[in-house]
Amino acid sequence: MAVPRSFKFLLRPTAKQAAALAACLEDHRTLYNAALEHRRTAYVKAGVSVRYGDQSAELKHIRGDDPDGQGRWSFSSQQATLRRLDKAFAAFFTRVKAGRTPGFPRFKGRGWFDAVEWPKDGDGCRWDSQPEHPSATFVRLQGVGHVRVHQHRPVRGRVKTISAKREGKRWYVVLACDDVPAEPLPGTGAVVGLDMGVACLVTMNDGVHVANPRHLAATADRLAEAQRDLARGERGSRRRRKKVARVAALHGKVRRQRIDYAHKVANALVRAYDVIVHEDLRIANMTRSASGTVEQPGRNVAQKSGLNRSILDAGWGVFLTVLAHKAESAGRELIAVNPADTSRTCSRCGHCAKENRVTQAEFVCTACGHAAHADVNAATNILRAGLALRQAAEAA
Ligand SMILES: [Zn+2]
Repeated sequence: MAVPRSFKFLLRPTAKQAAALAACLEDHRTLYNAALEHRRTAYVKAGVSVRYGDQSAELKHIRGDDPDGQGRWSFSSQQATLRRLDKAFAAFFTRVKAGRTPGFPRFKGRGWFDAVEWPKDGDGCRWDSQPEHPSATFVRLQGVGHVRVHQHRPVRGRVKTISAKREGKRWYVVLACDDVPAEPLPGTGAVVGLDMGVACLVTMNDGVHVANPRHLAATADRLAEAQRDLARGERGSRRRRKKVARVAALHGKVRRQRIDYAHKVANALVRAYDVIVHEDLRIANMTRSASGTVEQPGRNVAQKSGLNRSILDAGWGVFLTVLAHKAESAGRELIAVNPADTSRTCSRCGHCAKENRVTQAEFVCTACGHAAHADVNAATNILRAGLALRQAAEAA
């Protein structure tokens, strides 16, 4: 089985190349904003929706009129930027149709447009463009040149898309690959159930708690503070622009820390277990907000602001996405179960009652007296539900 995967490497551009990369990003941002303005005007003034095809057809003229500006870059990467805008509009209209009142797609300010994508290797870009070089790897990007890559691990599969991405002062290349061969890990015979929480990212049925890392919580705190600070500030001042930049930088940091941590935890799990059962996140989010456990968290998280908590919550989606990729590539089985009642059902006798849950952390069964950490009890129920699903699927 082959799975899609991406590889991210640090770029080592020369000063001239770094300037070209910045110009490339800036021109793509300008193109995005101009295309957005075009769509906005047509929609607001005439009620007309401009489509991707219309805008792509205009690219030729835009490039022809501006040979030393927009004309320098790859036609395909510019199309990818227009498609990115098209996606933002598609999402906007989906929400409008669903009866909600979403914000109109927004103009991208400096610092809010950080990547250019070349949708096909060989078209305006080339991975490993100097294969004859004895020691270094290069990627060629149209208008930028052959940029040196710090390739710290091998690339597997076939390179499909190539992106250049700016993070702070650094540049990265991101390769999305197809047909990456799976590397099954040897079986361990072990199974595990995971309960996802706020104080702990996951709790396993064997009693192991995997906490959100302290540095992530610390960055989340700083981000929450920076956002409060920003909300207090006056609009339009130079200090405000600095505050916006700080919030953006901290958002990026939280995202990177969360992804790194998700990789670490997911790696450990797929190495140790053949079958991993977790809560179905879509259902979990609904039942959680309905039953109010997130709104009334335990003591560990009570002091944390709602925002900080939501930052830690958001880690679940990232974690499960990473876990799904790794499980597939390692040949592990990942099962999602409906989490309804898993936190109030006794994992020993099956008695289900709200009163079983004494506090956020403490579970004591009112029928049989079984006492356990509430998350461990829930993880045990989750594992059991997953194994039952699996058995039913095998019997069918
Ligand atoms: Zn019981």
